[in-house]
Amino acid sequence: MVLDRLGEALKSTLSKVAGALFVDEKLVNELVKDIQRALLQADVNVRLVLELTNEIKRRILKEKIPEGLSKKEYLISVVYEELTKFLGGEEGEKIEISKKPFKIMLIGLFGNGKTTTAGKLAKFYKKRGHKIALVQTDTWRPAAYDQLEQLSNQIKVDFYGKKKEKNPVKIYNEFESKLKNYDIVIIDTAGRDALNEELTTELKAINNAVNPDETLLVMSADLGQTAEKQAKVFSENSSITGVIITKLDGTAKGGGALSACSISKAPVKFIGVGEKIDAFEVFRPKNFVGRLLGMGDIEALLEKAQEAITKEEAVDLTQKFVSGRFNLKDLYEQMEAMKKMGPLAKVIEMIPGMSNMSLPKELIEGQEEKMKVWKYIINSCTKEELEEPELLDKLRIERIAKGSGTSENDIRELLKHYKQSKKMMKMFKGMDNPKNMQKMMKKFKGLGNIGM
Ligand code: GDP
Ligand code: MG
Repeated sequence: MVLDRLGEALKSTLSKVAGALFVDEKLVNELVKDIQRALLQADVNVRLVLELTNEIKRRILKEKIPEGLSKKEYLISVVYEELTKFLGGEEGEKIEISKKPFKIMLIGLFGNGKTTTAGKLAKFYKKRGHKIALVQTDTWRPAAYDQLEQLSNQIKVDFYGKKKEKNPVKIYNEFESKLKNYDIVIIDTAGRDALNEELTTELKAINNAVNPDETLLVMSADLGQTAEKQAKVFSENSSITGVIITKLDGTAKGGGALSACSISKAPVKFIGVGEKIDAFEVFRPKNFVGRLLGMGDIEALLEKAQEAITKEEAVDLTQKFVSGRFNLKDLYEQMEAMKKMGPLAKVIEMIPGMSNMSLPKELIEGQEEKMKVWKYIINSCTKEELEEPELLDKLRIERIAKGSGTSENDIRELLKHYKQSKKMMKMFKGMDNPKNMQKMMKKFKGLGNIGM
């Protein structure tokens, strides 16, 4: 579903932040671009996306970081807060069942999910202890009566309607006295292909008869950004108090409909997320964004951000890496340290004159599995062998392979890697001079996979 996709995109953006070495303007720009891309793909309006991301950027770069938060934590929390605000604020617009009977009228065009949603709403409020009546005033579609009657039976709430009657106002008036006995009365109405005069007139007439406490426009998420226009037209012709976005489970455009309505005068109050009667929820932007980004994931990210090393630590490690004595055990430790520091590319960026270099991808990726195998090998080596890997001859390699459950080839590969790294170490020594560095990078590419 769209929101999964949007969520995935935003999540991976934020993990990038958590995994980054430190927060600088470049990272913020990257983050903002990623968020823009994710939102545009979810069909959010370009102008809205720019407004939102400008605000995120402004806050991250200009605001003073609150006490007790690291820059990374702050950055993640700003994204979280702004997305929430963007979708209508913390709790969103609540419906308070303030009188009896509380009348909710559903309006909208054909096929947007009105009747389904009437059933969903009925179930939603029944579960909360209210006595519910469903009223069908759609005299336009012959099947509408049966559809809502079946839903009523399924959720066991009372149903009112008249199959032969053509005038929706008459239907409502006929049952009005009975409807006084319910806590909540939900009125389904007919749609059309477009909001034409006929529908407008009909809705006005029903509205006058019912005098609803809430008039909710039901719109399918696949309308995308056009949802805004539709909400506008409907609110001009019949006063709506809110919007229900349905079918969020089935389109890549959900972000468009949600954001367009949330920030308009027609706030999203509920969302439909599936065909089943329970696939329905109150729209609470805060929870929604939390789930989009993964609440648990956010916590994990904040933790990860805390664990991530500071710039000083990173420089320290880099120096150790450059000048350190070097044997197999160091190699392993250094590999672990590098892993903690994030991608090698990021480390390189900190070296003066290196920030615009690009490293071959294979240099950086795919080392996790190998690291495991190498750890077994290193554990099977004697202290002597670790300190002087040159000692490893055919016999020793055979022994270690048996002892560690690895293959002789694995060991040879590790040794090759060790030699390459040692070679690279030597080159690294000249790295404070950008010219040497560039020369080195050329050689680097020739070295192939040196695995860091
Ligand atoms: P109406 O013409 O506005 O009354 O629309 P209906 O309630 O008859 O719904 C039209 C179609 O949309 C039906 O096939 C519903 O099952 C489907 N539908 C409604 N809401 C949702 C939703 O949230 N998700 C999905 N996937 N389908 C929905
Ligand atoms: Mg219907």
